[in-house]
Amino acid sequence: MCGIIGVYNHPEASNLAYLGLYAMQHRGQESAGIISTDGNNFFSHKSMGLVADIFPLEKIESLRGSMALGHVRYSTTGASLLNNSQPFMINYAHGTLVIAHNGNLVNGEEIKRDLVIKGSIFQSSMDTEVIMHLIAGYQEPDLVESIAAALKRVSGAYSLVFMNQDRLIAARDPRGIRPLVLGKMGDTYIVASESCVFDLLEAEFVREIEPGEILVISGDGLQSYHPFPVHKPANCIFEHIYFARPDSVLFGDTVYDVRKKLGRLLAREHPIEADMVVPVPDSGIPAAIGYAQELNIPWELALIRNHYVGRTFIEPSQSIRHFGVKIKPNAIRSMFAGKRVVVVDDSIVRGTTARKIIKMIRAAGAKEIHVRISSPPTDFPCYYGIDTPTRTELIASSHSIDDIRRYITADTLGYIDSKALTEAVNCQHSFCDACFTGNYPITFPGIEGAQPRQPTLF
Ligand code: AMP
Repeated sequence: MCGIIGVYNHPEASNLAYLGLYAMQHRGQESAGIISTDGNNFFSHKSMGLVADIFPLEKIESLRGSMALGHVRYSTTGASLLNNSQPFMINYAHGTLVIAHNGNLVNGEEIKRDLVIKGSIFQSSMDTEVIMHLIAGYQEPDLVESIAAALKRVSGAYSLVFMNQDRLIAARDPRGIRPLVLGKMGDTYIVASESCVFDLLEAEFVREIEPGEILVISGDGLQSYHPFPVHKPANCIFEHIYFARPDSVLFGDTVYDVRKKLGRLLAREHPIEADMVVPVPDSGIPAAIGYAQELNIPWELALIRNHYVGRTFIEPSQSIRHFGVKIKPNAIRSMFAGKRVVVVDDSIVRGTTARKIIKMIRAAGAKEIHVRISSPPTDFPCYYGIDTPTRTELIASSHSIDDIRRYITADTLGYIDSKALTEAVNCQHSFCDACFTGNYPITFPGIEGAQPRQPTLF
């Protein structure tokens, strides 16, 4: 769960990177960083916290040059430490190289063990550093060849942007698990995790970086390479369901449209008579609108979320922690009295959110509470870069839908069927739905409790 951006050829490259990271803050709130270059020197600033807090104007102005890489991080591998924040910069035999990575390698630990035995010294616990060691280990003077050779050794999910003194290089794993898109603004190129960045910068959306593509942006223009064996793409379906911003165009669809369509399909599968549909903010909003429109039920924003609570929010002391301040939206009490309510959210992970919300809505006087979820039960953890708890913590891995309904104290509970997902997304793309089916597209060594099965990607 990270957001990355690379800016090529703009006098205020770091400013654009800053704005891009700001637009992608939802992809990671733990740390952020920008490294820029003027072609001779590199300038870096990284810190724990939110983009707007850690980049005052003078910091951005100190990040000089016409190329910049940026990164927002929410850790999936590696602890939440400044050492693990990105972009990551190395000096090696052929100069300086900077990298920003979104995704998770499944064989990172294994390769790292080998490298450490051979004497490599690691500065962080990020799997990204493994890629840098591999690149430095190839004595190829040609950077693209070294990158290709290194990436052939790793497996898993990676959307990457590299930068040296004069080139920006984007790369995406052969299955294209995490998104990566290319934009243009005059003579400036921008590579970013999500297209919402281009809207903010008023840049033109050019295309996706293709699965398995290495794209070099330099004074010679754009060169595209496909050095990897071809695999059936496995775009992450959960980006559409929860993770990406609704205004982004992702894997051939606008995220908002997909979410709304999921809501409509959910209504067809699990209709109910009710007085109002209420989304769990913000993740459930588009699906709730779709659900309500399909059944002609009014929808209301009767649950309100505090938009200023980031991950840096300080949790209260143990004695009042049960309030669950951080995650609890507030119910507008007058809206619920005597009503039959459908509450729509995108997913249930541990069941904590739904349980708290239902308790609150009941206390506000709701007569019936029907919960509808616009994804199938989240049964399996993700090893490709979405932060999910272990399998045992996922309520759906060990409980029937009726058990979950009882736990969250809903009158009825309906999840969308996994087949409906295929209807909601662009049929030109194929997706990874391992979090719902356990059909992991890439096998992974040594991850306890995960039994990869034969992929049956749709
Ligand atoms: P839980 O309370 O554990 O059941 O979490 C469910 C809530 O978390 C839903 O409102 C989801 O929108 C949201 N959610 C789903 N996946 C994630 C994730 N990977 N990280 C953070 N929140 C998530």
